[in-house]
Order: sequence, then C-alpha cells, then structure tokens
Amino acid sequence: MIIAVLIVLGLCFGSFVNALAWRLHEKEELTDKLETLKAKKQTKAVAAEINNVSTQIKDRSISTGRSMCTDCNHSLAWYDLVPVISWVSVGGKCRYCSNPISWQYPLVEILTAVLLIMSYLYWPQALHGQGVFDLIVWLVVVVAFMALSIYDFRWMILPNVIVYPLIGLTLFQRLADTLLFKDSAKHLLASLVAALIGGGIFYVLYQLSGGNWIGGGDVKIGFALGLLVGAPLQALLLLMLASIIGLFFALPAAFKHVFKRNLQVPFGPCLMIACLLLVLFGTNIVHWYLNLVLS
Ligand SMILES: [Zn+2]
Repeated sequence: MIIAVLIVLGLCFGSFVNALAWRLHEKEELTDKLETLKAKKQTKAVAAEINNVSTQIKDRSISTGRSMCTDCNHSLAWYDLVPVISWVSVGGKCRYCSNPISWQYPLVEILTAVLLIMSYLYWPQALHGQGVFDLIVWLVVVVAFMALSIYDFRWMILPNVIVYPLIGLTLFQRLADTLLFKDSAKHLLASLVAALIGGGIFYVLYQLSGGNWIGGGDVKIGFALGLLVGAPLQALLLLMLASIIGLFFALPAAFKHVFKRNLQVPFGPCLMIACLLLVLFGTNIVHWYLNLVLS
C-alpha cells in the first residue's frame, strides 16, 4: 500500500519538479530581459514589449501560472499532465505543435518515484517517532535534489530559491531531532561539524579557483549535505564519493566533447547522488571504507 502511494507521489512530484525547473529558468531569463528593456529609451514599442514580458513572467509563476508547452506555449489540459502516461500516449510529441517533448520529462518522473521507494525500503532508522519524521523530511529533500539536478544538468547552476529552503529544512530537521525527539546533543554537534566540512572544503576550493572548479552553489549545498549525512567522517566520504561519481560523468563527456575545451560537468548532482548513497547505505559504506584504510 505504502509503495503504491509512493509511486503516485513520486510520479506527481517528478512532474512538479520538471515544471518547477523550467519555470524558474524561464522566469530568470525573462526578468533579465525586462531589466534590459527598462534600461532602454522608453518608446511606445519598448513599453509594449515590457508589458508583454511582464505578462509572460506572470504566466511562469510556480503557484498561479498554467502549464504550457515549452515550444508553442499552448496551455496544457489535465490529460496532457498525467505523469509518464501523457508522454507515452502522444508518442513524446506535443499534441498542439508536434514538436518533440524531451524524454527528460518521463525519466525524471520515473526516477523520482524510484528514489522515494528506495528511500522507504532502505531507510536505516526504525519506522516510528523520529524515524518517520526523518524519513518524511528526507522524501522532501529527495524531491528538491531532483529539481536541483535537472537545473544543474541543463543550466549549470544550483538556484538559490531551492538551495536556501533546503538548508533551512535540514537545519530544522537536526534541531527538531534534538529538541523534540531527544536525539543526543552530540549528534547535533557532529552534524554541524559535518556541515562545516562539507561547505568549508568547497569554500576553500571555490576561493582558490576563483569559482572555476566548483560554483558558489556547491558551497551552499555542501553545507546542507553535511547536515544530512550527519557526521564528520561521512562528510569526508561524501566529498570522496562525489568526486568518483564526477569522474564517471566526466569520462563519457570527455569523449563526446573531445575537440571542445572547457569541459564542464555539473558537480551538484554528483554530490547529491553521494549523499543519497550515504544516507541510505552509510553504515555499509563506512565499514567498507574503514576496512580499506585499516587493512
Ligand atoms: Zn507545443
């Protein structure tokens, strides 16, 4: 029963993060356009364009905007918005303009559902009291991870509108664990140190490289991920695992863009995958690592 609920929730949240990432990006671009227009000499044509762009920004609102095709801007009906099924039923093409709809959409929906189910099945805590609270917070975190990963893959940035609430949520969780569920203060302290390691190492790298190796978004997300993994050793393992995962991404990318310089692999998703592995399978990974180091 819970699995069925998680499948439905996962597909719906997947659909939501697809829309969220696209709207955030569009809004960003349109806002920039609006700024440029406002700086121009105000003729009638410019005023009309400002009006037009302002309406478009409103249409991209997360809460009030209507869903639309990203190519032809045609409003979508409810039957265009059923996760996966809509995409399959129209053969991956827009019903209105016939332009292909990226496979990213159903993939993200399915992946979100899979991650929610995995989180439930492999949740390391007992499922009552604090365990349930932590799991629910974690499911929200996973949805945020999906939104951030889409954004980072497509536009190479981790938007603050998602990163800051995520930091707030993880801080809130740690405090609630200690204050409401009487989790030990030692654990709280350990996760704060982990957060400082996660964010701190990136901050140093960021400063050293002038933002070339990693972005400012990685510094902030490093802080939240440190809180989530909850202990200093885990925070170090997080950075190590993320780098290994980054290499896996970088290798195929390196061959694909063999003649292009300035190879960029978004590091955000690597960090989030590493965090997911550590939160769900942390004890195993720590044991494996300690065996490796100590033997
Ligand atoms: Zn269309």
